[in-house]
Amino acid sequence: MNAHDPAQEPSFRESVDLMFNRAVALMDLSPGLEEKIRVCNATYTVRFGVRLRGALHTFTGYRSVHSEHMEPVKGGIRFAINVHQDEVEALAALMTYKCALVEAPFGGSKGGLRINPADWNEHELELITRRFAYELIKRDLINPAQNVPAPDMGTGEREMAWIADQYRRMNTTDINAAACVTGKPTNAGGIAGRVEATGRGVQYALREFFRYPEDVAKAQMTGTLDGKRVIVQGLGNVGYHAAKFLSEEDGARITAIIERDGALHDEKGLNVESVRAWITKNGGVANYPHAKHIPDGAAMLEAECDILIPAALEAVINLTNADRIKAPLIIEAANGPVTAGADEILRDKGCVIIPDMYANAGGVTVSYFEWVKNLSHIRFGRMQRRQEESRHQLVVDELERLSADKGLGWTLSPDFKEKYLRGADELELVRSGLDDTMRAAYQAMRAVWHGRDDVHDLRTAAYLVSIRKVADSYRAKGL
Ligand code: GLU
Repeated sequence: MNAHDPAQEPSFRESVDLMFNRAVALMDLSPGLEEKIRVCNATYTVRFGVRLRGALHTFTGYRSVHSEHMEPVKGGIRFAINVHQDEVEALAALMTYKCALVEAPFGGSKGGLRINPADWNEHELELITRRFAYELIKRDLINPAQNVPAPDMGTGEREMAWIADQYRRMNTTDINAAACVTGKPTNAGGIAGRVEATGRGVQYALREFFRYPEDVAKAQMTGTLDGKRVIVQGLGNVGYHAAKFLSEEDGARITAIIERDGALHDEKGLNVESVRAWITKNGGVANYPHAKHIPDGAAMLEAECDILIPAALEAVINLTNADRIKAPLIIEAANGPVTAGADEILRDKGCVIIPDMYANAGGVTVSYFEWVKNLSHIRFGRMQRRQEESRHQLVVDELERLSADKGLGWTLSPDFKEKYLRGADELELVRSGLDDTMRAAYQAMRAVWHGRDDVHDLRTAAYLVSIRKVADSYRAKGL
């Protein structure tokens, strides 16, 4: 078999299984448990009709549950015309490993609806979403204790608000109804910082990676994020936030942005806000006046850069282009952007890949915070605030007293005092909780990466950490 023959490319689910198998080969799991963890428990397929524009339209949707070692199970719902069972199952498996890695206490699940959202107006989309939600709620595939969806490609706060409302209508006595779905708007039970969370997590992951010069050296680089050349593929919610934060806060240069209708290229660095505004207005990157437009967007994946961020679909780096990829560091903001075969080719070339199950775990981490907030029925920080404020007041008083006693003449600026006394608000708490989570998970992966002679890449390390956790909870359950 020729490893570079595109015909040999496995499906997305097979690709995830191959990566899983490579990791379990290094573990001492019993074959029974190994199989139990790998397989997808169930996939529900529903076909439902909605009367729209005077005709009955039939839609196909899926909700797949990969592992119920912890419940509820968790994972987004994707609206895309090509979504299919194999894809949803692969994505559900990745949710299991992702949640385990960042210690979000959930099993893995994923949903999909075969629809092109652009084909329908808002009112029609609401009818379709509510009908799909109705089918899933009826079967406990949306439920705060059993299965909690979230946004994914093609869905966002608006769809989550419809789903939450649909659940509430069908379960009027469930006091925890708001926790049936995450990624809701903040005025409908959502949490501050959820929309930016996955992109923010990519930024925190990179910051953590660049804290370790030995790790940076493995990617044939030195230094910090400052001045690094970054190519981003896909300026959707995840890619946009990652690119924005890295360029605005860490000094990275976004040298290319790849979209459906080609790429924009500027070695001096693109202005992410301006590109985003152009796409929103014009539907694509073509004719953007401030950078060179390259019609063959995919070719830009192969351009010189320091960091490549695939933030769109799965399998964009595959057997057909892997050997031409020049980036020494890839961070998988999307789920499954590198196929198993491409992963092998890139590893052989010495490319470091920060794997999806870690890199894009920011979304589900903040979803976890939202779910907890909904179940506790209180805004983050509200109970701690008074106590925190009075402790902070003690520090301020003490500093001022000391300064007066010793005749030092120190004063605290009113701005500092105001910020310090106010205590952290919900957004700050969410960001610090996310940062903490991303750092801890990286360190867990890194310990395996550096600590074992038979582990040579971060993906295998990530699988080892998460499979171990899933196995332990299956064992604890007595399975
Ligand atoms: N769809 C996102 C993912 O792939 C978020 C899932 C969630 O928040 O439950 O991780």
